[in-house]
Amino acid sequence: MSDQNRPDVDLTTSQRAAIEALMQREEPIRPPLWMRRGAAIDYATECAHADEDPAGFWAEKAAAVEWFSRWDRVLDFDPPHHRWFSGGTLNATVSCIDRHVHSDRRNKAAIIWIGETGEERTYTYNRLYREVNRFANALKALGVETGDRVVLYMPLVPEGIVAMLACARIGAIHSVVYAGMGSQSLKARIEDAGAKVVICSDFTFRRGKAVPLKPTVDEAVRDLYAVEHVIVHRRGSRPGDDRVEFESEREYDFYDIQEPRAVHCEPVPVDAEHPLFILYTSGTTGRPKGVVHATGGYLVGTTYLSRAFYQIQDRDIYWSTSDIGWIVGHSFIVYGPLSVGATVLCREGVPDYPSPDVTWELCERFGVNVMFTAPTAVRMWMSHGGDVPSKFDLSRLRLVACAGEPLNPEAHRWAQRYLVSQADGYVVDNWWQTEIAGPVLGTLPNFEARPGKVGRPMPGVDAAVVDPSGQPVEAGQGGLLVIRKPLPYMLRTVWNDPDRYAEYWSSIDGCYAAGDVAFNDRDGYIGVLGRADDVINVAGHRIGTADVESSLLRHPAVAESAVVGLPDELKGERIVVFLVVKPGIEVGTGLRGSLRDHVREDLGPIATPSEIILRDSLPKTRSGKIMRRLLKAEAMGEDPGDTSTLAD
Ligand code: AMP
Repeated sequence: MSDQNRPDVDLTTSQRAAIEALMQREEPIRPPLWMRRGAAIDYATECAHADEDPAGFWAEKAAAVEWFSRWDRVLDFDPPHHRWFSGGTLNATVSCIDRHVHSDRRNKAAIIWIGETGEERTYTYNRLYREVNRFANALKALGVETGDRVVLYMPLVPEGIVAMLACARIGAIHSVVYAGMGSQSLKARIEDAGAKVVICSDFTFRRGKAVPLKPTVDEAVRDLYAVEHVIVHRRGSRPGDDRVEFESEREYDFYDIQEPRAVHCEPVPVDAEHPLFILYTSGTTGRPKGVVHATGGYLVGTTYLSRAFYQIQDRDIYWSTSDIGWIVGHSFIVYGPLSVGATVLCREGVPDYPSPDVTWELCERFGVNVMFTAPTAVRMWMSHGGDVPSKFDLSRLRLVACAGEPLNPEAHRWAQRYLVSQADGYVVDNWWQTEIAGPVLGTLPNFEARPGKVGRPMPGVDAAVVDPSGQPVEAGQGGLLVIRKPLPYMLRTVWNDPDRYAEYWSSIDGCYAAGDVAFNDRDGYIGVLGRADDVINVAGHRIGTADVESSLLRHPAVAESAVVGLPDELKGERIVVFLVVKPGIEVGTGLRGSLRDHVREDLGPIATPSEIILRDSLPKTRSGKIMRRLLKAEAMGEDPGDTSTLAD
């Protein structure tokens, strides 16, 4: 096909400008020599192996996981369906717990948990084994069987992790619903999953407040007769508080149903393709999408990437600031790091409460070596200044990995300067999504980081940036991000909705379409600009909200910003900005003008905001994503709709 005949990629004017800028401006950040030398894998060798012999490559990675019976074939691919490790049987908990209990790691801390109130609990692998097995036995006693669905509505507490693993132990399929969603969202997920059991906590803590969860569950399950049991982890609103009363006969206490001495439960061998979990995510239709991950491939992928990407070593304390309600929490709080026998630090609550230095105080206290966090958190820390982390001993923090949204170059450089400099460490970006449960693109200590670009495809990943006909675009052109071969840690289906699953593989022939706009440079680095659908149309020019936001973030007064498109009689839509200024910034009469000039200069006149609204904070989900929808509804005087995923 000649270039002229190729269908054009629907890039916005500002996306094109952003790509152009990112293709030229940014100086790379080189990995420290000691980290490059000590990198967990040799990138070039691994990629060559995966290219030449993909089955051999993944078979080698699968050997790092415990199997009851070995697989016959690594991959069967009949698009859109792919099956991995056919004939193999395993139980994920054997890799995550049993093998460590039968090794020198048995008394090693598996989980160090910090509550929002400062409470601290440590679970060794040995203790985790007992807790998981005891709860698995309790589930069995209630009649939960292999293949049954169990919905969890719990904050980041050890009982949540125990419940996930207990389900896996008996082959039940867990579906964690983020404990901040409202009763309708929860109900829709319980119903779609066809869950027999719901496990919840009575309270969660947010910014010092005890938030009751039980009434949300009561409301959700009221007329769901298929739910046979509701198990409540009763922690109270504060220590020593009265425990919540039960509302109905189908309710049980999390600990009362456990038999103290029933500390062994045989792990159920399941087929490699048996669903380990369903995790709901939002699609474009407003109906939740139950992403299904299969036990074998998922565990192989997350085990491999814990070492190869996150560089987690045996002595490390690894902290992910995510939550079990999100894919990061599944893959890199629970399954991946436990499979490699790490010590996982996890903390309930937001990273700036009770104060913006809480994260660094904990990093110092526990000697955190590797951290996984979100760009929004980095920008929030940045707005409080580099002096805050600099006051603490972060000399062990060698790797900070960011994912979930674009990491803007300013935040990347700030993190490199203030978070890892004491350890002579490295800050890396990585791209993945609920549907592909571990890094697909990323920066490794083997090569330089290029701020504004995520990095390169991970070994075994065949990623490309293409036009709508599936043809790769030239460097700097921009297009759609696709994965051209299946990965073991990629979703197998959408629960109850095979057609919706097939859509991932049908929009661009023969490829998995990630739904993101991306570009690559001449050396194969890929940058991801955001979802293909977050655009504003101003006078026929399409402008990405993310573009205007990152431009604003480059202004010295701006801490955070959110951009929405509002209807405009003349231009179709106009750009409205909500923003939070950095502490100590004088909000004078010249500020708005200065911001407009800055954006105009950065992105062109078409991207100039019509209105700038100053705020103390922006509404966000607990995973840190700004809820533009709420701001838009507010500006238009409309009903904000479902606000249950709001952090506050
Ligand atoms: P979720 O499934 O909720 O985790 O969201 C996945 C989406 O977040 C991706 O499709 C991207 O749009 C975005 N995303 C994740 N990681 C990155 C990253 N490193 N850079 C840019 N966007 C990202």
